[in-house]
Amino acid sequence: MTASPFDLAGKTALVTGANTGIGQAIAVALAEAGVDVAVAGRSEPTETLAAIQATGRKAVNIAADFGSIEPVGRVVDEALAGLGRLDILVNNAGIIRRADLLDFGEADWDAVIDTNLKTLFFLSQAAARHMASRGSGKIINIASLLTFQGGVRVPSYAAAKSGVGGVTKAMANELAPKGVQVNAIAPGYIATNNTAALQADETRNRQIMERIPAGRWGRPQDIAGAALFLASPASDYVTGHILAVDGGWLAR
Ligand code: NDP
Repeated sequence: MTASPFDLAGKTALVTGANTGIGQAIAVALAEAGVDVAVAGRSEPTETLAAIQATGRKAVNIAADFGSIEPVGRVVDEALAGLGRLDILVNNAGIIRRADLLDFGEADWDAVIDTNLKTLFFLSQAAARHMASRGSGKIINIASLLTFQGGVRVPSYAAAKSGVGGVTKAMANELAPKGVQVNAIAPGYIATNNTAALQADETRNRQIMERIPAGRWGRPQDIAGAALFLASPASDYVTGHILAVDGGWLAR
């Protein structure tokens, strides 16, 4: 019997920001698909580690604050020490800061660019050195609808996430000959802590729901499904792509 192109059994992955939300759903879905998973972030990912272990796969916890690039080399070293090798990197950790454009401050600019874009690049670079030397690997960057749109009151987030789109393509170009695919997922409105305030605001929630052709908020598991595809051999000829998972938002 030939192996399914979606088969991930025996692979290894590093997922950032996996204590909650989209990162948690991706880490657990990978483990359910047979992947040993290292999770890296600044908060204790107790629930995620337990869910990975419940699948019978190995769970590795790496404490790291991605507000700067200082930990990236150590994080990849610890993932390699714990997992033996690294097949998949999911750059998910991210923050958003909101303020009127005319009042937007430098600290909020730097924090969002550093966490969402600069660290994503340098962590990918550290992982790619290992993947390129082995001739295979998958890097999946979590982008946003604001990779394509400007948004309102979130200029550093829009800049960072459109940068994620650009750097995804830049990395894909140079890593394709080395057998490493680099893609991004652009989630639409997904119900997580990140969007709790929007969900709680009755007017904004109604406006958002009316604008989504699928008629509902996305779930973290919707993003995990796309991540499994981009992590699997089924996507070996897909690279430099930004996959919107948005219930049709961009199609409207
Ligand atoms: P969450 O707030 O639930 O998850 C964000 C994760 O990033 C958390 O694990 C958080 O850790 C981690 N993180 C943030 N800053 C740092 C840091 N300095 N060091 C280490 N880890 C950090 O939100 P989501 O699940 O919604 O977001 C996940 C990704 O999806 C983000 O990149 C976000 O921009 C993106 N996204 C989300 C959308 C949505 O609608 N929810 C839409 C489009 C994109 P901690 O708990 O410690 O803060």
